[in-house]
Amino acid sequence: MIRFEGVARTYPGQERPAVAGIDLTVADGTTLALIGPSGCGKSTLLRMVNRLVDPDAGRVLVGGEDVAGLDPVALRRRIGYVLQGVGLFPHRSVAQNVATVPGLLGWPKRRVRERVDAMLDLVGLEPAAYRDRRPDELSGGQRQRVGVARALAADPAVLLMDEPFGAVDPLGRVRLQAEIGEILGRLGKTVLLVTHDLDEAVRLSDRVALMRDGRLVQDAAPADLLARPADAFVEEFVGADRLLRRLGLIAAGALAEPGAAAGLPVLPAAASARDALSALLASGAERLAVAEAGIVTLASLRRAARDGAPAGFTSGA
Ligand code: ADP
Repeated sequence: MIRFEGVARTYPGQERPAVAGIDLTVADGTTLALIGPSGCGKSTLLRMVNRLVDPDAGRVLVGGEDVAGLDPVALRRRIGYVLQGVGLFPHRSVAQNVATVPGLLGWPKRRVRERVDAMLDLVGLEPAAYRDRRPDELSGGQRQRVGVARALAADPAVLLMDEPFGAVDPLGRVRLQAEIGEILGRLGKTVLLVTHDLDEAVRLSDRVALMRDGRLVQDAAPADLLARPADAFVEEFVGADRLLRRLGLIAAGALAEPGAAAGLPVLPAAASARDALSALLASGAERLAVAEAGIVTLASLRRAARDGAPAGFTSGA
């Protein structure tokens, strides 16, 4: 759905390219996260998709079409764009903000109204309560929800998200990430996400592409990036706690063995192996029960951190 072919870009007056030699594909209906240190070229790459930046070399294809041949304004109406701090119009109501692109596309008023309410519902904002508010009457997380509703309003197949949760407080962020990730997956959107937050990348994406100095260093499924860093830079970037992150991708139930649960701490069926480790550390126990699954031991967690989930089990992201 999105494809970068040999893409490079050097900004005027800069000696070094912001990005160079990038070949990357975001498959239809999947989410790819671009991560890497500040200044490595993530936003430059993302902005090439809706032609806020044009490459000096190479091509960017959206749905098989080279975007260089498309009118930038028409292209941007086809692609949802969510930014940090959202960029909502401050003097317009929530409804007017969400209606922006359908309005520009000339949808009939009634259809626009219905769509606005449906989008607010989708992102968990009761339309009657939020439709007429101004952005400054909302929390950071609510504003971000409106930003997502606005980006989805014209039902674009492709969504670009640049640090979308950066302005949301850490507690609200995890919940918002989970909800928005679920919505995007359910709608089958193709998403290119820029983040400097590895946990966010791992939580939300099907693939993670790690960049350094304008180049692509590794492009892999989250569990593979954590399990098999391509080089020392990736290893350092994913950090010493990569094994913990890896446990976060494995369902605790997948590690369970039969055994007596009496007297043991019990975790819900949806718990991750990382949750199980936290519970063991907090309780001082060496084993605990996972509802509907069985017993998880410290030894099995250690094995999973090293080797991944046992064969035959899918790890939930
Ligand atoms: P990231 O999103 O990973 O932080 P960017 O894509 O924003 O990285 O920037 C990549 C490099 O290009 C950086 O060195 C940045 O300073 C430079 N850069 C970005 N935008 C411009 C611009 N408009 N003019 C000149 N240099 C820029």
